[in-house]
Amino acid sequence: MNEKIAPRKVEKLVAVKGMNDILPPDSARWEALEARVRELMRRFAYENVRTPIVEPTALFVRGLGEVTDIVEKEMYSFEDRLNGEQLTLRPENTAGVVRAAIEHSLLYNGPKRLFYMGPMFRHERPQRGRYRQFHQIGAEALGFSGGEVDAELILMAQALWQELGLTDVELQLNSLGQPEERLQHRAALIAHFEAHPDALDEEAKRRLHLNPLRLLDSKNPAMQPVIEAAPRLLDFLGEASRRHLQSVTDVLDANGVAYGINPRLVRGMDYYNLTVFEFVTTRLGSQGTICAGGRYDYLFEQVGGKPTPAVGWAIGMERVLELLKEQGALDVAPAVDAYAIVPDAASLPAVMACLQTLRAAGTSVLMHASSAKGMASMKSQFKRADASGARFALVFGADEMAQGQVTVKALRDANIPQQTLALPEAAQWAKTLQSNA
Ligand code: ATP
Ligand code: MG
Repeated sequence: MNEKIAPRKVEKLVAVKGMNDILPPDSARWEALEARVRELMRRFAYENVRTPIVEPTALFVRGLGEVTDIVEKEMYSFEDRLNGEQLTLRPENTAGVVRAAIEHSLLYNGPKRLFYMGPMFRHERPQRGRYRQFHQIGAEALGFSGGEVDAELILMAQALWQELGLTDVELQLNSLGQPEERLQHRAALIAHFEAHPDALDEEAKRRLHLNPLRLLDSKNPAMQPVIEAAPRLLDFLGEASRRHLQSVTDVLDANGVAYGINPRLVRGMDYYNLTVFEFVTTRLGSQGTICAGGRYDYLFEQVGGKPTPAVGWAIGMERVLELLKEQGALDVAPAVDAYAIVPDAASLPAVMACLQTLRAAGTSVLMHASSAKGMASMKSQFKRADASGARFALVFGADEMAQGQVTVKALRDANIPQQTLALPEAAQWAKTLQSNA
């Protein structure tokens, strides 16, 4: 039986909350930042690593620690419907890089300096500078125990701010010492917080005996006074830990890098020891941390590898890009060199053959395309050419095509005379354009 299908309004689909589309012209700024970062990594000799976005859930539970914000409440975890595996969209990528290094014996021939860029996922409350899909640039130095590599990473981030023209960025530094030192501090910390039960929120009470260091990382403003008064881990450091911190600050001092020691800085994952640091700006409100990192000498063992010292950082790309946008930095000039004006659709095959030679010579060419009605008038094509930001219009008119020629007309500079070129000469013209760019 033929039933009449009632016209149904199709619901509009939108992106998942907290996950953003990155569209032109903003995407050009993203690409520019990525290009700067690749160039920076080349000069510091960090090699690119690309790991999967999905990892076994156990990697993060073991690596980051069970009693952390990320593992307790921020992970996108799910069961693979086909084989029942427990999987998680990566909330960060240090654990993934370490997993890959162990799995492929990457340190077989000695230490490795690696970097990555890509999306991370955390189920947080979306707000300015805090999203559910966000992007990090990460650098990880694997197999290095000396503080000079901690410092090298800091210098690398500092160089990036400088080259991007970012101002108002402060470096905060702390040492989390070693596990034995943390144990002593832990007892003092528990005693301190137990003496102030009314100052603790529910989460803090629950975490107090599981992982008291986490209390120092609380974002609850009401808890700040009791956190301020807490015993400082710095005061529990032994000689070796102190020397390590000194070896970092010696390099920073020699390089004129300003820093402040922040004894409350603990970071959100359990894997850190000794050096931890954050670059913070005052210009993004409470989401001011644009880069955070530290040493994680016990993470390899935690996820099943051999003991391997390591240190790294991650930059929040959205936050850096917001700063850059605010400062009008990295505003990218229009990329189109030429706009092809084609009055007659019949010329398109020959025109497109010519454009291929121009593009092969390095010129960026935008071609006016036909509509259902054919090609638009010359006038409206010139309008589009102008709006495109192209420096030149390439006119493939009937006269030109009959002669196997193209007319090149400058759109932004009245001093450049119009010229008509034979099509084979056009590629030569394109090359001069590149060398003058
Ligand atoms: P925060 O204290 O702001 O939650 P975090 O300690 O959780 O930061 P890390 O896990 O150290 O952050 O990540 C390194 C950097 O990645 C942060 O300093 C920040 O710039 C960026 N970042 C972290 N979470 C987000 C997010 N949800 N949205 C955007 N950027 C983020
Ligand atoms: Mg966080």
